[in-house]
Amino acid sequence: MAYTVQRLADYSEAALESAAGECIRACEGEAAAVRDEADLKDFRNRWLGRKNGILTQINDQWLKDAPKEAKREAGIRVNELKARINELVEAKKVGGDESGASAAERVDISLPGLHRPIGAEHPVVKTTNELVRIFQKLGYSVAEGPVIETDYYNFEALNFPPNHPARDTQDTLFIAGQQVKPPRERLLLRTHTSPVQIRTMEKMPPPLRIVIPGTVHRNDPPDASHSPMFHQIEGLCVDTNITFGDLKGTLDHAMKEFFGSSVKTSFRPSFFPFTEPSAEMYVSCFICGGSGRRGSDPCRPCKQTGWIEILGCGMVDPNVFEFVKDSGYDPKRVSGFAFGMGADRIALLKYGVDDIQLFFQGDVRFLRQWA
Ligand SMILES: [Zn+2]
Repeated sequence: MAYTVQRLADYSEAALESAAGECIRACEGEAAAVRDEADLKDFRNRWLGRKNGILTQINDQWLKDAPKEAKREAGIRVNELKARINELVEAKKVGGDESGASAAERVDISLPGLHRPIGAEHPVVKTTNELVRIFQKLGYSVAEGPVIETDYYNFEALNFPPNHPARDTQDTLFIAGQQVKPPRERLLLRTHTSPVQIRTMEKMPPPLRIVIPGTVHRNDPPDASHSPMFHQIEGLCVDTNITFGDLKGTLDHAMKEFFGSSVKTSFRPSFFPFTEPSAEMYVSCFICGGSGRRGSDPCRPCKQTGWIEILGCGMVDPNVFEFVKDSGYDPKRVSGFAFGMGADRIALLKYGVDDIQLFFQGDVRFLRQWA
């Protein structure tokens, strides 16, 4: 019996699927029976006819009758159906040129080609890649690790004492339902890329030089300078006789490569649980040249100080080496330095963007500027 459109009593997903399936099968069956131009004309009128074609009936009976909450789903289904039926009718159209090729198969070589836009590096990815390449030239290799980490790798092995504020839920996003596990096995979203230092040292004996790019998460409400998801680039160098002089020389070189040979670096004492001594490194403001002023205006990126804080660094705390002693990192024999910086923050500074949220909203108008 020929297919007729039935009203839908039920708008559940399963009912829609079955009704659409039945309709497509009927259309396929009738398409297969088309033999000549006259058949094709009938076939087209029956399915695509404006006044009483099957698609029009489906529009009238399925879509208009659909209860409010099912309208969206029914609309999607009907659109899929339309596309498929149009396809079936299109495929049956017989072309008229002498070669016998159908209209769809004919190639008009004078038509301009399809323009496929080529993607470009996101400004954060671009910044990360530039920095990683600088360290690769110095002999560093790239190491990566999981974004979902255990408490052990994220905190314990990095010498964070149990009551350290970074372990507080104010800063760390813990995975729910982990309370049954021993504390060191509980899962969290890594708050820094530093766990990869431990994971790499466990696998590779010294000497070691690695640079670690990656995504990290913290419970920071989003604003112009904070995002709960951001990116770090971290580095670790371990060998015998590595000194703070090596740290300064390496980072000073990297900053000159990245920001330009005229920038100066300055190291100021700081504290991190996994390095001792620790420092924050500043570079002279590459926007105002260190003067703190831009013409008669104050320089905002350096807060008029002429210096911009770029990264944290320090000599690896011997306590950290104790956790990987069995992999060849005897704190009496090896020493090393580590550093970490925020790729997003550096991208903000480098490209003069004033809101970190712009990086993650996926607005093509914004991103296209770096294409
Ligand atoms: Zn400045």
